[in-house]
This record gives sequence, structure tokens and C-alpha cells, in this order.
Amino acid sequence: MVQRHHRIRRMNWTWPTKGRWEKWAKKRFPNLHSQSVQQIIKEFLEAVNATRQLRRNGHVGAHYPWRLLHYRDIIYTNQAAKVVEDGQMLVLPNGKSGRLRVRVPEAVQFPGRLIEVQLAYGKVRVVCELPDESRSAETTVGVDLGVNTLIAATDGEKAVLVSGREMKATVQWRNKRLASLVSKQSRHQRGSRRHKRLQRRKYRLLDKAHHRIRDGIHKATHIVRTEFPKAAVYVGKPFNSAAQKVGRVTAQQVSSASNAKIIKQLDYKTSGAIQVSEHYSSQTCPVCGGRQKCRRTYSCRQCGCSAPRDVVGAVNILSIGKHGHLVQGVQLPTQVKYRRLDRRSSGGHPASSSNGASPTRSSRL
Ligand SMILES: [Zn+2]
Repeated sequence: MVQRHHRIRRMNWTWPTKGRWEKWAKKRFPNLHSQSVQQIIKEFLEAVNATRQLRRNGHVGAHYPWRLLHYRDIIYTNQAAKVVEDGQMLVLPNGKSGRLRVRVPEAVQFPGRLIEVQLAYGKVRVVCELPDESRSAETTVGVDLGVNTLIAATDGEKAVLVSGREMKATVQWRNKRLASLVSKQSRHQRGSRRHKRLQRRKYRLLDKAHHRIRDGIHKATHIVRTEFPKAAVYVGKPFNSAAQKVGRVTAQQVSSASNAKIIKQLDYKTSGAIQVSEHYSSQTCPVCGGRQKCRRTYSCRQCGCSAPRDVVGAVNILSIGKHGHLVQGVQLPTQVKYRRLDRRSSGGHPASSSNGASPTRSSRL
């Protein structure tokens, strides 16, 4: 291993081209498929190139890959990995050390052509090629993430506001209960039976809160998906906006933890989520371009238009996504829908309000 390390270091100075790396690697790693070796070298070269680029741009702290890895994922390209026995068996060749056969679970069906297989620690990742049409966007939607309004989404004509109250309540409930459990626990000796019991309650509480938040994120992103089917989504890049707006630790915990998850879910459920910078998006009037800070409702002092602040934010994010910058003279959405996350509807379809009390309230601006 040490010798290999030296080799790589030495060759850094002459900086061989890609073809020469392949020559160098030939027959050097007989227990891996040649494609796997090439992929690992490619990854290494990419890391080196990224560091060079960063250093050129003045990032002094960026360092070249230097650590000898004890373990690394092995990549099998579609030239190496094969699916046999009617898609029930995955065969991963490893050069002279033989083939690894992995049984594919019966429930799993690869959705497209095999592109790449990664053998990771205790799991196998499979990359498939999906037909393009499944992610083709028909509309574009701007999304603003927040605390009191968890998600504000608009396509320019209608706007949907998903209330964040349920989520906020869950976080507050968790923090309150957690504080009380921690203080109770501090009165007992570590390792004692009472201490252990409280520890169990603590983890149950955290689990429950985690599940509720995850459920809420699923329902909220599902609303966006059903209201705007087949849409590409522009999301305002959250830069601690919650801390700015609310200025409380709890509020920050709500968003910083879940915003990334919301964006991930949106990306998964829609035709892709693109993050854009959201500077001044909820302070700028989309009609006349004036700027001012407002609380829940934005009402412009210059042109007199008014709309919920989160709607204004979403409209502006949409125009940042479409044009790359804020634009004036944009029409405000004519219809605003208010939606909340109903915990009782466990079917995961908060859109279908079969019980008498409708969670949907529409209003015209
Ligand atoms: Zn205005």
C-alpha cells in the first residue's frame, strides 16, 4: 500500500494524461475488474482537479487527497456488472479473485437499463437509466420555504400556501418534553434503572417527533405535487432566513433541519427542484420593484398592491428562476389556496378532505 501511495505522489509531478494512467494501472490490480480500477482512478483525478481549481480560486485550505483509505466503495460499470437469471441475480466480476453473485430481492425490479452498480459497506447501490419523459416539465413553479408558512408555491396564476403550524407545534412539543425529561434524568444517577427508563422515553419521544416531521414533509410536498403536476420547481436557497425572520432558536431548528429534506422530497416528487438565491425575494414588490419589509401581508406603499408575504416570495423566486434576477411588472396570482397538514388523514392524501370540515379555504385577492 505504501508503495502505491508513493507511485501516485511521484506521478503527480509529471501529470500524465488519462491514457497514461490507464497504462499505469494495467495489471496492477488483478483482483478488481479493469473498469472498476478505471472508475477509482477517475474519481481520484476528479478530486485532484477539484482541489487545483479551488486553490487557483484562492481557497488555501483545500487539500489534495492524501489519506490512504482502508475501505472504499467499488464501482462496476455496465460493461462489468451483469444481471442474469431473469433479473434475479447480479453478477459483479472482480478480476482474478472471481465473481460476486448478489441475489436481487423479489420485490425489486430495475426500472431501466443498468448503468452502474456500487458495492458499498453492507449494501449494493444500483443506478438505472430512466426514460426522459418521466421528468419532463410542463410548467415552472416558484417555492418559498418558511416556518409559519411551511411551503408557498406559485406558478404565476394560482398560489398554494401550506401552513407550517402543525410542524412548528410538533417541534415545540418535542423540545418541551425533551427538556422535562432531561431535567428529570439529571436527578438520577447515570446507569441506574430510573435513568435508563428515562433514556428510553427520551429516544421514544425523539423517534415520534422525527416520524411526525417526516410525515409532515411528505404531506406538504405531496400537496405541491398534486396542485402543480409535472412542474419544475425553483426553491429559494435557505440561508438561515428563519433565524432572521423569527430570531428564535426553536424556529431555526424547525427549518434548518427540515428545509434540506423538503427540497430533496420536492426534487423527488416533481420534475426536479433547482435552488436559486432568495435575496430580498419576500421584500421586493413584484409589480413595481419597490422594496420594504412587511409582516404577514405584503402591501406596497408605491403601487398599493397587496398579497400574503409568502406569495410575494414565491412569485419572486419564480422570476429569479426563470430570468436569473428579480423582474418588475409581474402579475400577482389571482387565486390563493390555504392548505394545512391534517394529522388525522393517515392515508397520506391530505388533499382529499372527505370529512365535513374542509381543510381547504380559497380566497380571491
Ligand atoms: Zn409595488
